[in-house]
Amino acid sequence: MATPMIEIDRVAKHYGNHAAVAEVSFTIDKGEFIALMGPSGCGKTTTLRMIAGLDQPSSGEIRLWGRRLNEDAPWERDAPLVWQSYALFPFLSVRKNVEFGLKQRRLPAPERRKKADEWMERLGIAGFAERGVDQLSGGQRQRVALARALALEPEMLLLDEPLSALDPHLRVRMQSELVRLHRELGITFICVTHSHSEAFAMADRVVIMNE
Ligand code: ADP
Ligand code: MG
Repeated sequence: MATPMIEIDRVAKHYGNHAAVAEVSFTIDKGEFIALMGPSGCGKTTTLRMIAGLDQPSSGEIRLWGRRLNEDAPWERDAPLVWQSYALFPFLSVRKNVEFGLKQRRLPAPERRKKADEWMERLGIAGFAERGVDQLSGGQRQRVALARALALEPEMLLLDEPLSALDPHLRVRMQSELVRLHRELGITFICVTHSHSEAFAMADRVVIMNE
């Protein structure tokens, strides 16, 4: 069998003597849409943070293409995260937010601008390019966060409850948009959700976490 893209191999995370994540194991193939589903507090965010490199496992191993990843810094991992809280810069325009990661990667300004334009167009936010993100609706902000992450052309996208801040109508629409984006881009999506219906509506495979 081919090597999976990501292997989570008996990974645990302890804080003192509290287990935030107790020995989880699963694999993810390239291009899959995986949902990590489970009740609040079961360790979904912690698992995602370890994949992103924001936390290190207490034990076990995370591998990317068969290579141990545990100690690699976030920027060495090619896995930008989109959080439900958006974590956008409220004092910057939509364009500047979308360009942010590209600037950090020292892409020259004209190319940055071109890429940002493409992604704003693709996510339907080009009309707000010069607006501050504090002047956008929740759904629009979510698109800015997605555009900012996808402009980096990552191999995988990590989403932590990306739809939880949206109203029910918008949530359903963004669900199908995420599915469409995933299909078009062909990259790996790992999406954390506590919602059964969301997980099964979007994902190719659902990892169920509990306790
Ligand atoms: P979920 O995302 O599934 O709601 P989390 O991964 O955020 O769950 O948290 C799992 C458990 O670990 C919870 O009991 C939480 O309180 C605990 N936890 C998470 N982060 C920390 C931390 N930095 N310090 C101590 N405990 C933590
Ligand atoms: Mg969480």
